Amino acid sequence: MSEMTPETDPRTAQLGRRLAEVRQRIAEATAAAGRTDPPRLIVVTKFHPAEDIRRLAELGVSDFGENRDQEASEKAALLAGLDVRWHFVGQLQSKKAKTVVRYAHAVHSVDRPQLIGALGRAMAAEQERSGRGSLDCFIQVSLDEAAGSHRGGAAPDDVPVLADQLEEAGGLRLAGVMAVAPLGADPERAFAKLADISAGLRAGHPSAVGVSAGMSQDLEAAIRFGATHLRIGSDILGSRPAVR
Ligand SMILES: *Cc1c(COP(=O)(O)O)cnc(C)c1O
Repeated sequence: MSEMTPETDPRTAQLGRRLAEVRQRIAEATAAAGRTDPPRLIVVTKFHPAEDIRRLAELGVSDFGENRDQEASEKAALLAGLDVRWHFVGQLQSKKAKTVVRYAHAVHSVDRPQLIGALGRAMAAEQERSGRGSLDCFIQVSLDEAAGSHRGGAAPDDVPVLADQLEEAGGLRLAGVMAVAPLGADPERAFAKLADISAGLRAGHPSAVGVSAGMSQDLEAAIRFGATHLRIGSDILGSRPAVR
């Protein structure tokens, strides 16, 4: 073909190939686990330009993850016409709650009472202003066994209290649990522990079925242990700039 079509844009073609590979891995791991409920793919686009999000949306991606409020707000504003859902996956300061609720469908990094309070107040104001639906909240759990090496998240023992607080706050929906496998640890062991924590949560909160787990390196292990939401960045977008 000599004509320039969207398919001939080399970056779109590259993203399309990598997306197809990741979708294939997901399909194979889902089948191997004997599951009939494929997890939802969230493409984590932090550090990559808004134009890549537009390309991925054209390729059929509907869910995007970001980990910094300023970058996410800017991208959401630039892409306001796109029918996509934004997932906030990074550590979140309470003072950013007001801006996050303007664009986020879900926050995957809810890990302390103060943040739940801030999100609840921000949602009350935002629902008044825009009439938006509730905010999906995943309780981020730390799976680090060694003290002092954590990547964010509540202690597993704190999950019940945070869950009750989330259920009581208006505008917030308790979606489930989230975790990042600790660096250098066996992801299977980490995700098995997360599955146990999820089961404990569901005993008291049957609708909190979400398990946000699995990144480029460990999505197969996460699927085996029941992930409902995968957060995949580098295997689709390529490596991120080392310094920023
Ligand atoms: C960056 C990030 C991801 C994506 O990780 P990749 O290894 O690039 O797939 C997933 N979850 C969180 C919380 C992240 O910050």
